[in-house]
Amino acid sequence: MKYAYRNGIILDGTKNMQPITGKTVLVENEMITDIISDTDDLSGYEVIDLEGCYLLPGMINLHVHIPGTGEPKDKPVNAHEVIRTLTANEQAREILKQKYISCSQIALHSGVTTIRTVGGIENYDAWLRDEINNGKVTGPRVLAGNKAISVPSGHMAGVFAYAAASPEMAREYVRMIAEGKPDLIKLMITGGVMDADESGEPALKMSPEIVKAACDEAHKLGFYVAAHVEGKEGLIVALENGVDTIEHGAKTDDEIIRLFIANHASLVTTISPVIPYALIDTSVTHFDETAHSTSKTVMDGVIECARTCLDNGIPVGLGTDTGVEYITHYDFWRELVYFQKYCDVSNAFAIHTATAVNARIAGVGDETGTIEAGKSADFFVVEKNPLEDLKALRDVKLVAIRGKVIENPEIKWFEKVEQELNKLI
Ligand SMILES: [Zn+2]
Repeated sequence: MKYAYRNGIILDGTKNMQPITGKTVLVENEMITDIISDTDDLSGYEVIDLEGCYLLPGMINLHVHIPGTGEPKDKPVNAHEVIRTLTANEQAREILKQKYISCSQIALHSGVTTIRTVGGIENYDAWLRDEINNGKVTGPRVLAGNKAISVPSGHMAGVFAYAAASPEMAREYVRMIAEGKPDLIKLMITGGVMDADESGEPALKMSPEIVKAACDEAHKLGFYVAAHVEGKEGLIVALENGVDTIEHGAKTDDEIIRLFIANHASLVTTISPVIPYALIDTSVTHFDETAHSTSKTVMDGVIECARTCLDNGIPVGLGTDTGVEYITHYDFWRELVYFQKYCDVSNAFAIHTATAVNARIAGVGDETGTIEAGKSADFFVVEKNPLEDLKALRDVKLVAIRGKVIENPEIKWFEKVEQELNKLI
């Protein structure tokens, strides 16, 4: 199929992007083949008139847990119990697969054309990636983390992560996860907001020896390592022992910045979960006091880490922690709004980060992330100019993934989530 997207305004995803008018984007099968003048001959192409709307690269969410919807729970759930139920038998697993598909399609409908998953159930992330890549299912490009590695009583242990009690067990888990053909290996190095025992920074849970063993084994097998880190001690242990991308972040110092640079590590900041957890009243969220005060500490750390990394030329990407309460598959645009607000970047830089920078961090910078000939036809169209107001990204008119077009994509919003989150922007 050959499509010509004409009469739109292009935002190409580059750092200093300006609206480009008078150009038509040509797409053949999965690829953008050329960008020509609106007045050039389009015979042989099916013309899609964008009616003056804005066309920009599909967004990339670097931090997703696919099976969670983000809908807040009325009372605490036992996550171990939920996982057991979801995988109890063949029938349950079929339902789980449908859930994986529908969650990824919600992301796609919101203009997110690539998701990088960082902790899921067994090998279902890679299963979904393959279903999509084989054309059986329409969905975003998936970079699969599959089930992660934690330690006994560590973050997400037994839920989205295995519990490694020793360096040798960590190596074994890496080899086991590798058999499921993931795209990366994910570690849980510190605790998190919801599992904190006391207020303050989430504590280091994974020993340096285990981190080193897991990173060495992953690198030997050709995988890079992403790690959940929400405390300073965790940052040092992660960066000294081979972690490639720090997920979330914490307060830094000169030595931590030196380690980031020396190890060519990147930061994947996630402001989306920390803002609501710290700022929505506990009478609404039902979080306990420890979680609430921990989330304030983590919020300060995440934001300071991102700002300091940006100041020092360290690559900073964006993710949302999709799947945890209040963080839905359709709300990635909010991360750009927070990034602009709390890290004091321009709207253009926020869009550039969510597209081109995120593509590079995820290792797919040659395939996607900008509007240019030779890239995958991954883009979306919005009516208003997001360079003026990033909230324009919420109303998606059209999405293309690898050339496949979805017009007027539908999304069902969680009203309570939208109500609470809209108070924060
Ligand atoms: Zn996460």
